[in-house]
Amino acid sequence: MPLKTSWVTSANSADHPFPLNNLPYGVFSQGDDDPRCGVAIGDMILDLRAAEENGLVVLMEEPLFEAPYWNDLMEQGPAVWTALRNRLTDLLGEGSPAQAALHACMVPQSDAQMHMPIVVSEYTDFYASRNHAFNVGTMFRGPDNALPPNWLHMPIGYNGRASSVVVSGTDIRRPWGQVKSPKHDLPAFQPSRRFDFELEMGAIVGTPSEGPVTVQQADDMIFGYVLLNDWSARDIQGWEYVPLGPFQGKATATSISPWIVTKAALEPFRTDTPPREFALLDHLKDCGPMLYDIDLTVTLTPAGGAAQQISRTNYATMYYSAAQQLAHHASSGCPMTPGDLLGSGTVSGTEPDSRGSMLELSWGGQEPMQIGEATRSFLEDGDRLTLSGAAQGDGYSIGFGRCTGVILPAQPDPFAETKG
Ligand code: CA
Repeated sequence: MPLKTSWVTSANSADHPFPLNNLPYGVFSQGDDDPRCGVAIGDMILDLRAAEENGLVVLMEEPLFEAPYWNDLMEQGPAVWTALRNRLTDLLGEGSPAQAALHACMVPQSDAQMHMPIVVSEYTDFYASRNHAFNVGTMFRGPDNALPPNWLHMPIGYNGRASSVVVSGTDIRRPWGQVKSPKHDLPAFQPSRRFDFELEMGAIVGTPSEGPVTVQQADDMIFGYVLLNDWSARDIQGWEYVPLGPFQGKATATSISPWIVTKAALEPFRTDTPPREFALLDHLKDCGPMLYDIDLTVTLTPAGGAAQQISRTNYATMYYSAAQQLAHHASSGCPMTPGDLLGSGTVSGTEPDSRGSMLELSWGGQEPMQIGEATRSFLEDGDRLTLSGAAQGDGYSIGFGRCTGVILPAQPDPFAETKG
């Protein structure tokens, strides 16, 4: 499928992230106006609340874009998702008769502030990159026991906190937490000294389930994908994680990119999961290509320094798809809801420069990275960490935009007054 052209001419270039083929969904505000739903086209945003009020986008009798989040639209299901995408493709396509009427609904992205695109109902994070699981397991347990015994049979994960999910651009404050002290037998409560990022994709569930679902049904439930950074305090995580898994080490914040790239936009980029070492149980078996060929990069910018790319990998390297994660999640009868966010797990490739966390890139701090004049094993205060992603089509690109955050210093001791 070639580049589809739009009357918004900035959208008509091979390397622009938001051509007519993409049409990603976000929530934006301009000046002091209320946030509202919008769709990105080139360097502009179509204000969907205004377009709906003006009768240009009318999908149902009741309005779908009154609220500043996409949950209302998602809950309508795939037929309405398709109807909206078709309507927007017509409205924004080259030669559209609605062009003059739409001008009053267009906002430059440079004037817009982005907000959370959805109300996150629940957040679960998985661990689905074999390379990442092998690297981390090797550091913690040695290469012979790197993969847990369950790993090749199901996509393992943990329940995270919906309240911790923030939109790209939100500053991230270094957390305090309980860590194992290297010098003493007793643990200490202190600011994390091994604060890290995790390069992930997030899948957004659009429709609910009330019992087990097949992998195909799970894929049909997914509305779209975002970039996701699971900020991780390795020293807190390392002390707390046995036997119940990550808890406070992952609870500070999880950042997502502001634009939801729909599953429909990603259709041309579907890829298969890799060959299976053990056949999966029937309810988790692959039933078609459900991963995506999405290039992912990570840049680190020290305060006052230049941005440097520190990793490049691809979502297609994952062992489990989001559809398999969702099918596994629902297999117990766990109800899944619109706005459920599923983190893929850190995306790491096979090469040292394709690893998706500082823990792996610096090999637990044993091999610090050179970032311009600076060295880094983990993130320092003032560092900006940015994830980017794009699927490359024939003469066009499906971009995810950026997922970025700056590390702020830890707050002063929150319990100083209670100390004797
Ligand atoms: Ca993670």
